[in-house]
Amino acid sequence: MPKIRKWNDSYVGFGFTKVNRDDRECAQCMYCSYVMSNESLRPSKLQNHRDKNHPHVKDVDIGALAAKRVRFDKEATLTNFGFLPEENPALECSYEVAYRVAKCKKPHTIAEDLIKPCAEKMVELLIGPKEKRNMQQVPLSNSTIRRRIDDMAAVVCQQVCSEIKQSKLQASLQLDESTDTTLERFPLIV
Ligand SMILES: [Zn+2]
Repeated sequence: MPKIRKWNDSYVGFGFTKVNRDDRECAQCMYCSYVMSNESLRPSKLQNHRDKNHPHVKDVDIGALAAKRVRFDKEATLTNFGFLPEENPALECSYEVAYRVAKCKKPHTIAEDLIKPCAEKMVELLIGPKEKRNMQQVPLSNSTIRRRIDDMAAVVCQQVCSEIKQSKLQASLQLDESTDTTLERFPLIV
């Protein structure tokens, strides 16, 4: 039986936070939300993920990563416990922004870096400081926008695939060897 690994707070330095999966401690990347298996809960694996996917994190100091972890965990808990119900207009704003960011092919970080501060400033100047606080509740962090875009892309893919499957026409795809044929991205093949 593989050894059950334990979380260590120093792993935050690689850009990870602790989550529980199936009663085991696991590391979740705060930059792409990827959850590593318990077996991968060791510095070399976490460092590998960081260096391969988010090399810039190497230069982020530990204090900033710790602060990011507090925000990340809080956001995850809030949504896990349903504090942002579907009909919440702030949530709808968040999806609207994510949709437009993706549609304009802008980097997903633009929401946190530019759109949110601009929107807050405009609301503050046009309406008032109290309304600015409402604006601040719209979830537009990098990880949130990334997740929303992934969610929406998955739904679009499902819709297209189900339309093709329902169609009477025979369809086939010809792919060359440079195409990533990972099954989850090509549900049609299964
Ligand atoms: Zn990552």
